[in-house]
Amino acid sequence: MQSTTAINETVELLARIEARERLSLEEWKAVEDSAPTEELGRLADELRKTLHPDDVVTYVVDRNVNYSNVCVSVCTFCAFYRKPGSPEGYVHNYEEIFSKVEEMIELGGSGVLMQGGLHPDLPLDYYTGLLHELKTRYGIHLHCFSPPELDHLAKITGLGVEGVLRELRAAGLDSIPGGGGEILVDEIRRKRRTHCNTEEWLNVMDVAHKLGIPTTATMMFGMGETRDQRLMHFERLRELQERNPGFVSFIPWTLQPDNTPIGKRFPDRIPGDEYLRWLAIGRLYLDSIPNVQASWLTQGLDVGRQGLHYGANDLGSTMIEENVITPAGANHRATEIMLCEAIVAEGFRPMKRRADYVRLDR
Ligand code: SF4
Repeated sequence: MQSTTAINETVELLARIEARERLSLEEWKAVEDSAPTEELGRLADELRKTLHPDDVVTYVVDRNVNYSNVCVSVCTFCAFYRKPGSPEGYVHNYEEIFSKVEEMIELGGSGVLMQGGLHPDLPLDYYTGLLHELKTRYGIHLHCFSPPELDHLAKITGLGVEGVLRELRAAGLDSIPGGGGEILVDEIRRKRRTHCNTEEWLNVMDVAHKLGIPTTATMMFGMGETRDQRLMHFERLRELQERNPGFVSFIPWTLQPDNTPIGKRFPDRIPGDEYLRWLAIGRLYLDSIPNVQASWLTQGLDVGRQGLHYGANDLGSTMIEENVITPAGANHRATEIMLCEAIVAEGFRPMKRRADYVRLDR
């Protein structure tokens, strides 16, 4: 049972959040200790309305093209990668990728989310040539290569992060997905054998923002991290966004443990009510990031819909193809019509967007 002093402190902190005051990391710990989820949801919904007063909820139709599953890393939460030399390893040639993109365009898609493993020796020409061809042939938005891939490319080419990003942008790269963010605390990253440390992940985004390339910030939780580590993750994202803005969205999702080494230790998924609580805290903590996405793919469409009342103004992608978290147990599926109907049923106006959150429809 909370003391009267603690209750008063929580009430005061919630009032300061409502007044749009920034709380410190320590103050957020006190909020997370005691604030009711419904109240956090109400405040997050208020902030969402302030940032998006037209009640539009966006979504994207795109395709997750995984050009290769060969990876030198061994993240314990990953069911996608194959070690170099594995008979199950693959690298798609350009023609295979073109046919996937053509299918995506036929289905009304606006862009490609392209990510892969950390291939030990695929040359930079493979990536730049592919972007150039995709842009020239189809003129689509190219949302490609998460910070671990970019950090890896920077190292194996010797060009550094800025050199690699300049080459990729010249070839057609439009924006960068925030994959590999997981929890930005090295203690938990080392335990989960996550590729690239906190500073390396943030540095890629810092350089991208300096070059004017939009990015997304993510969080994958439910892999044994502590409450304080989740809050520290928000703090690191907020610090970067304040110093050098460029995150256009925050996308939290939950560990899918099936077929992963870590799944033996943490077989249980984060439940919907816990997801919604952290979605609301993320919306409020990261108040300088304009958009927040609810992850229907990992939580199911029902929780995704509820997320629209806990601070989210985006319902993500129809995911025409997904190969990374699906093998780990994310089996939810939704079509464009299903997403639009869900958005309307919750009282919002659906609108298609690009991967950089530029709206496409009126
Ligand atoms: S999450 Fe990415 S970097 Fe980690 S093992 Fe899987 S493919 Fe490799």
